[in-house]
Amino acid sequence: MKLLEERILADGNVLSPAILKVDSFINHQVDPSFMHQLGADIANHFRGRGITKVMTIESSGIAPAVFVAMELGVPLVILKKQSSAVLKTDVIQTEVVSFTKEIHYQLTLARKYLSEDDHVLLIDDFLANGEAATGAIRLIRKANATIAGLGILIEKSFQPGRAKLNEQGIHVYSLARIADMDTDHITFIPEEA
Ligand code: 5GP
Repeated sequence: MKLLEERILADGNVLSPAILKVDSFINHQVDPSFMHQLGADIANHFRGRGITKVMTIESSGIAPAVFVAMELGVPLVILKKQSSAVLKTDVIQTEVVSFTKEIHYQLTLARKYLSEDDHVLLIDDFLANGEAATGAIRLIRKANATIAGLGILIEKSFQPGRAKLNEQGIHVYSLARIADMDTDHITFIPEEA
């Protein structure tokens, strides 16, 4: 999506060859009308595929996922990164390794929000090593629900996430695919590729 690529070039900061900072419009300060455009594009890509729920992982996937769910007219389920006093019983959990924070966390879902009748579209802001998405997919499968695909704002295609998900039979749709980046340049995989 040209619009997102242009915004990344204008407002993104490459912190290291592996980390892109986009916190002025995606994951710290949010540009809501821009986020709505991104969410609508992902929703249009997956429309008509029988999706019953949109799902994301707290916290930076929430902003785009709200708009995707609104466009598709289905609920959004937010996976928690830790259980709390109010989320202890009848939960499904799986352990995930965080890319940015280099920690492990327990991805947690209350069983009542997902059933075997659900067909789920998973949304996240970034795809890097694919650990977060793979953890969410494990939870969806534990609930015997099915997966329509994964919608991503920014895929770092030089990292192994897409290949890992494709190996699991997951269709990945990313709005911007970064082929290569460094502090002085960012290059994208052309949309047709
Ligand atoms: P993965 O599990 O695919 O390795 O990493 C995905 C998660 O790590 C995303 O949910 C995202 O929040 C975070 N992440 C991965 N790479 C980046 C990055 O370059 N910049 C930022 N801001 N977050 C990232």
